[in-house]
Amino acid sequence: MSIKTFRKGGIHPDADKLTADCMPERTPLADKLTIMLSQSIGAPSQPVVAAGAHVAAGELIAKAGGFVGSNIHSPCAGTVKKIEPARTPQGLWQNAIIIVPDAEQPEPQFAGRGDAEIQALTPADIIAIVAEAGIVGLGGATFPTHVKLSLPPGKKADTIILNGAECEPYLTCDDVLMRTRAREIIAGARLMKKATGAGRVIAGVEENKPEAIKAIREAAAGIPDVEVTVLKKKYPQGSEKQLIQACTGRVVPAGGLPVDAGAIVDNVATAYAVWEAVALGKPLYERIVTVTGPNLEGRGNYIVAVGTPLETIINDIGGLPDDTEKVVCGGPMMGKAASTLDSPSTKGLSGVLVLPESMAMRRKPDPCIRCARCVEVCPMGLEPYMLAQLGGHKRWADAATRGVANCLECGCCSYICPSSRPILDFIRLAKAESRKLKK
Ligand code: SF4
Ligand code: SF4
Repeated sequence: MSIKTFRKGGIHPDADKLTADCMPERTPLADKLTIMLSQSIGAPSQPVVAAGAHVAAGELIAKAGGFVGSNIHSPCAGTVKKIEPARTPQGLWQNAIIIVPDAEQPEPQFAGRGDAEIQALTPADIIAIVAEAGIVGLGGATFPTHVKLSLPPGKKADTIILNGAECEPYLTCDDVLMRTRAREIIAGARLMKKATGAGRVIAGVEENKPEAIKAIREAAAGIPDVEVTVLKKKYPQGSEKQLIQACTGRVVPAGGLPVDAGAIVDNVATAYAVWEAVALGKPLYERIVTVTGPNLEGRGNYIVAVGTPLETIINDIGGLPDDTEKVVCGGPMMGKAASTLDSPSTKGLSGVLVLPESMAMRRKPDPCIRCARCVEVCPMGLEPYMLAQLGGHKRWADAATRGVANCLECGCCSYICPSSRPILDFIRLAKAESRKLKK
């Protein structure tokens, strides 16, 4: 069996998939859901309900604030209490709809579609259903899926790549979804294939998920337009450009989009959400979140309603261990530390990682010893030490000239640096500031 990967750079952190065998369980509804109006890249959504309104599970509560935006639906039956600013896990204030769930939660009723009806859907129908359901990229990017499926004029994609790499250490939400919902994921990917006019689906799964590979292979058996590619365990294998190269051998041009290499990449959870929207008529208002950490007793994969406070998620599974130093939203490589647990889960939340002091502390940085290890591991062929230095000296234009915009923010450079230099922090700064120069 040939195992594929991208060519340049990459690292091999310990996988630490502590929850790989924890099948998804639903968490209880919180007493109060705080549903942020910014759930995707793009303008915040606009509320269509007011305080005092009673809503049903799956009812539209906010409309996309533009084409690059997403609808938001209530995860439960309940009463809208307020629309007011709430804090994100990173401490930013954003408007949110606060819903208090009813004591009784009737089984949500949606108008699903039979096979014949699904077969008759046109590409435009599928894109409209995906937009209506508020689906965004669930790998963390939260790019609205209907926008991704609406190819820019003159562009064509021949391949849908299903991202089942899940290369971030600790995260297992995609793994368990593939093991339990493989047929639905493949069906969702084929709907995206039809929506875009692509000719094939390639499902890429890292080699360290044998059960998921087996399930996806079984679901794809006998379907001529679906291939399964086993990927080497290497970070950042799940990054779009690296995944396209591994699965197709094609290179996305610098500054280009996946579609410039004829591909569209969608996470397996996004494909599942597309299937739910089309076949069940269910909008996106809950997702699987990996809640994990070396000393977290109740760790597992949980189906969490959007808007559930992080604190509630953690308390429901036994609370934080005494030695907790840091809580990260997402994985340890690309996730962001939470500054407050009072903030809610969002559509983009793939994981909650609880780290003890011994693993959370940053070492004091030493001077750069020009070892070039950061250059060797950079999957984009950049010179991270140089970009960080330019960022430190506020030389934004020079950083732009040296390609800082191409940085994936994967963190391979910071991970490998023997001097513990805060390389990515400076690169992020340079990236943000050099972007402003263009305006
Ligand atoms: S964070 Fe950016 S500069 Fe560092 S290795 Fe990743 S792509 Fe390269
Ligand atoms: S890995 Fe660290 S020490 Fe080595 S060149 Fe890069 S920044 Fe300098």
